[in-house]
Amino acid sequence: MEQHQNQLTDIRNTRILRIASDGSFSEAEQAGLREAGRMIREGGLVAFPTETVYGLGGDALNPDSSRKIYAAKGRPSDNPLIVHIAQMEALPRIVADIPQAAVMLADAFWPGPLTMILRKSDAVPLATTGGLQTVAVRMPSHPVALALIRESGGYIAAPSANTSGKPSPTKAVYVAEDLNGKIDMIIDGGELGIGLESTIVDLTVEPPQILRPGYVTAEMLSRVVGEVDTDVTILQDGADCGQAPKAPGMKYRHYAPKGELTLVQGTRQAVVDYINRKAGEARMAGEKVGVIATAENFAAYDADCVKNIGSREDEATVARGLYTILREFDDEQVTRIYSEAFETRGFGQAIMNRLLKAAGHHVEQAE
Ligand code: AMP
Ligand code: MG
Repeated sequence: MEQHQNQLTDIRNTRILRIASDGSFSEAEQAGLREAGRMIREGGLVAFPTETVYGLGGDALNPDSSRKIYAAKGRPSDNPLIVHIAQMEALPRIVADIPQAAVMLADAFWPGPLTMILRKSDAVPLATTGGLQTVAVRMPSHPVALALIRESGGYIAAPSANTSGKPSPTKAVYVAEDLNGKIDMIIDGGELGIGLESTIVDLTVEPPQILRPGYVTAEMLSRVVGEVDTDVTILQDGADCGQAPKAPGMKYRHYAPKGELTLVQGTRQAVVDYINRKAGEARMAGEKVGVIATAENFAAYDADCVKNIGSREDEATVARGLYTILREFDDEQVTRIYSEAFETRGFGQAIMNRLLKAAGHHVEQAE
């Protein structure tokens, strides 16, 4: 962390504002947040912490701001942005109607890591929604995010604050790596809690459909609104099942590490033996090999860089570690990566969804 702080102080063009994230802001922090809010109202871009990953924020109702977000990230402009609000009263202005299910889900999960797709109102420019007549809306729970949204006029369009195709940033230093010099400010709120992007649920269809899995699981949603569908492309390659993902962003190969990533499925011992064998072969062929290991198996691997992603017993630790590990492998010039596979139920579904995308759906069975 020490090294990261030094790197951040070196940044010239983009201002860094460091804020403790407990919600009790000092006068200086409040002044900084007001300044950040002014930047966004004037059409600038500010990266900020949320409870999921860092977001790159601009005024959601200003098409020029949205265009700047796409440019800074190098993001295809048909990949719509999520609009962040800080209070329920802000919702009617940006949506055409509010279905009962949306009210119930907001009651249950907002503020929090759930994004809802609703029909958009005329107030939301097509530049923000990637040309769609629907809009993605979320109310984050992070106190810095909420304060910034209030200071910015109430509507912040924010995708993850990474260069398109890189893992979403869970630390401000990764935001700086990707966006330094391209945006006006980075608010450093430390390392983030969840580490994977929000769950996205489409409420313009019946029954509601999960387009991207996250911390809020299908089971949690159905307890509130009954039947919930899941887009099949969440765990299957769209090309294999003949369907395009419904969330435009999910069709891109996100979260791609530089090294070639393979997931390995099977019983515990078979996976460990298989990965050790493959790692040995790859190393003989001159590759630098990384392994994503669970805490349970960590000591059993033999490779150049073995990373402990967390315990199978606590999937939250795995989610929190995933993007950091992928970035570290890039920094360490790892050319081949083997990862254990995870359960596809509950929160594990979100972890496998991100890993499968990072691996380009390359899965091998350990026998
Ligand atoms: P990110 O901001 O990086 O977390 O990406 C936002 C995700 O939300 C992308 O996968 C988008 O395709 C998806 N998204 C945003 N707006 C919509 C929408 N109106 N309909 C479907 N998916 C959306
Ligand atoms: Mg993203």
